[in-house]
Amino acid sequence: KEVVLKIAAGEVVTGCFSVVKELIENSIDAHTRRIEVEIREGGKEFIRVSDDGEGMSPEDLKEAIKPHTTSKIKSIEDLYRLNTYGFRGEALSTIASVSRMIITSKQEKNSVGLSLRITGGNVVAEEPYLGKTGTMVEVYDLLFNTPARRKFLKSAAVEGRMVTEIVQRFMLSNPSISFLYVKDGKVIYDSPIDQPLKDRIRLIFPELKPDDLIEVEYTDENSGISVRGFVTMPERTRLNRFGEMIFVNSRHVKQIELNYALERGYGETLEKGRFPFAIIFIEVDPALVDVNVHPQKLEVKFSRTSLVLDALKRAVRVAIHQRGT
Ligand code: ADP
Ligand code: MG
Repeated sequence: KEVVLKIAAGEVVTGCFSVVKELIENSIDAHTRRIEVEIREGGKEFIRVSDDGEGMSPEDLKEAIKPHTTSKIKSIEDLYRLNTYGFRGEALSTIASVSRMIITSKQEKNSVGLSLRITGGNVVAEEPYLGKTGTMVEVYDLLFNTPARRKFLKSAAVEGRMVTEIVQRFMLSNPSISFLYVKDGKVIYDSPIDQPLKDRIRLIFPELKPDDLIEVEYTDENSGISVRGFVTMPERTRLNRFGEMIFVNSRHVKQIELNYALERGYGETLEKGRFPFAIIFIEVDPALVDVNVHPQKLEVKFSRTSLVLDALKRAVRVAIHQRGT
């Protein structure tokens, strides 16, 4: 690895969901077309994420599990870009240090890959791998060596639900990638490659019918901000905001102002206490907003949001109006 940056170590492992999130992000960064996620006991017992992406050479794999190794930062400015998911180079090493991990990877150009067995951060066994190209990370007994922190994991049911939510988010923001999601031996999702977004939304929210979804397609001419995705008609709503998912430059963003702007786009037509389903992708030139990336939490916040909020509200209004008339 050419670039090794030291960045304050953060809490990568805040729950099983955060492990799944980091591993899926790595798979996406490796340009995979298919991601398979399997968990048992909410992930507390077992998590596996495998991909058919670029993989790593045996040498790179040995480096990748060391702290602060990343192949993704070329300069400190990259830290503030939203393009790649990973930028801290600490996910794999941190997860490896608090679990029993088997990590296996092979690149297309190599006929032999490598599989490492790691316990609490120490490589305890390694063997050649002759299987298919890509990467597979298996995580057993998360936080087994830090019992005080393991205690803070929630019940298997709650951890599992949080993992499912993360998987759903990635499925929605990456409809071109095929996902298999298996929970306690049961296939929850098995989605094809290049699935139309509308079909993917209906896979995640099976209660929706094709006619319930209105396409949003809007570009603000002045700012260049684009808003696309799908929302439901005002009469097809629910009692909570769980159906509202907003992605900014491909990253899921939880910022209540965005939800308010979305709902304002409905105007009077949205009853009080009702919330739409909405899967919205906003593309904005990072130079237009102050992006505040918190290196530990990976939260993205915008401090000059008015342009984004305005575009979002207008985009929804236009879409609803077109359907209404
Ligand atoms: P980061 O993603 O921030 O670079 P990670 O600890 O998550 O740090 O991963 C370390 C490095 O290991 C990555 O930079 C990448 O080069 C490599 N890597 C991790 N996961 C994969 C994967 N699924 N496919 C290919 N390479 C990977
Ligand atoms: Mg990463």
